[in-house]
Formats: sequence, structure tokens, C-alpha cells
Amino acid sequence: MKILKIDHLGIAVSSIDERKNFWTEVLGLTMTGTETVAEQKVTTAFLPVGDSEIELLESTAPDGPIAKFIEKRGEGIQHIAFRVDDIEAALKELKAKGIPLIDEKPRNGAGGALIAFVHPKATGGILVELSQREEH
Ligand code: ZN
Repeated sequence: MKILKIDHLGIAVSSIDERKNFWTEVLGLTMTGTETVAEQKVTTAFLPVGDSEIELLESTAPDGPIAKFIEKRGEGIQHIAFRVDDIEAALKELKAKGIPLIDEKPRNGAGGALIAFVHPKATGGILVELSQREEH
């Protein structure tokens, strides 16, 4: 498996609208738009930081994974995403190493990425996302 960089940090927020001020007005980052991923019951907003990004995650439903995360642990960093060159190969390799996966197959994430999550029980409690994208 080849990890190219930290693609983004996923941060669970109760409201993108209420939280964006810190990231844009205070830190001076630019929000490049929001996107709803219906399948994941989440609205995402990306803010590029150099070669990586901050991803703000707001739940669209009370039973969505982000709503459940905030209920349990409060707002904060929800996952770390690594950019890989070949997500299928990476998942195959992790499986062969006996690492439990949330997604055995890649699925569609925000921004046209292919993504898959590794189970936190294999990583010391960190939700790890693998992401493959065509561009940048
Ligand atoms: Zn993510």
C-alpha cells in the first residue's frame, strides 16, 4: 500500500453554519463549498490547508453516523483520511493482514473520491479513512 499524504481531517460539527466562522474568519481558510452525501446522512464542507484539507461534517439526520458520534463523544476530530494511490489494492492488503474493515469495498465519498473506512478497533480507536482521487 502506498500512502501519498494526509488527505483530510474529518471534524464532526453540530452545524457547519455555526462553526465555519472559526475556520474562515479566524484562521483565514477558504471553504470550497458544501456537499451532501445522502447515503451517509452527512453534509460536508472542505477547507483546503496546503496539500491537505479540513472536512467539516454535519449530520443530516438524528440517526446518522455523525449525529451518533457527537452524541457519544461531542464535537471534534472524527476521522483521519489518507490518500492512497490504489484503494482496491490497499483494502486487499489490509484484509490479508487481518485488519477489520468497515468497508470491504470502496464507496463514493464527497468530491468524487473513492473511500473506505478501517475499523477503529484495529487502529487504537482512530477512525481511519482511505481515499483515492483522480485529480490533485
Ligand atoms: Zn473524510
